[in-house]
Amino acid sequence: MNTQRLVLATRNRHKVTELHDILTDAGLDVELVGADAYPEIPDVPETGVTFAENALLKAHALARATGLPAVADDSGLCVDVLGGAPGIFSARWSGRHGDDRANLDLLLAQLSDIAAPHRAAHFACAAALALPDGTEHVVEGALRGTLRTAPAGSGGFGYDPILQPDGETRTCAELTAAEKNAISHRGQAFRALAPVVKQFLG
Ligand code: IMP
Repeated sequence: MNTQRLVLATRNRHKVTELHDILTDAGLDVELVGADAYPEIPDVPETGVTFAENALLKAHALARATGLPAVADDSGLCVDVLGGAPGIFSARWSGRHGDDRANLDLLLAQLSDIAAPHRAAHFACAAALALPDGTEHVVEGALRGTLRTAPAGSGGFGYDPILQPDGETRTCAELTAAEKNAISHRGQAFRALAPVVKQFLG
């Protein structure tokens, strides 16, 4: 029997491994490849206004271009007192895409007068599956917590050093990768998508 190939719309090896582990745990025998395997396919502009729209845009574009089922995710940090911002702008909040430290410093400065009870925030992730025939499914995960006033910890990436998950005394950057995956928005979304992938591909 041929193993089904599934493409993940990311060039991040860590995400490919994480999703592979989750799909294997769900009992799925798929060959998972990252978008790196298709260097000729350009990245899709993220023109959606929600995480779900952007995840679907990326999954559909990759499924159309490869003729294979595709999975994509989109994520960010949503701060209550900022009405959900940075949200879909998380990676470029300070103006430069992917400058994690500048993004985090700007956010801390914006919240400098906000007291602990009003510093609630969550990481959000939408994970989408698209098939070449246009079939789609999208699920979401969230990791709720409180924003610290100064960064702590050296693990993780992005806003990890300032989000302390509810029920934790450490920030996400002080958790091990396994501890964070077990509770993270992305882990939750990928785990919720696994049975859907199994239903369509299994
Ligand atoms: P992307 O969905 O991988 O493009 O992530 C968008 C942005 O959201 C990242 O650049 C980070 O700033 C932020 N972000 C998403 N997930 C996390 C996380 O697990 N920890 C910290 N920051 C995150």
